[in-house]
Amino acid sequence: MKKEQICYICNEECEDGIEILGSYICKACEQEMINEDASELKMEYYRSKIKSLWRNNLS
Ligand SMILES: [Zn+2]
Repeated sequence: MKKEQICYICNEECEDGIEILGSYICKACEQEMINEDASELKMEYYRSKIKSLWRNNLS
């Protein structure tokens, strides 16, 4: 049983990544999120994505 793994952040299909709150995040995006050199704008984008993830799961 192989479910489709589409990254929640970049919407790309990816084979390895992590699952957070039932959504999938690819390795590349995960790395970007923990990368201290990522731009402020990018971090803001990731943060809002994660926040909406939480909201979806709390409702
Ligand atoms: Zn991704």
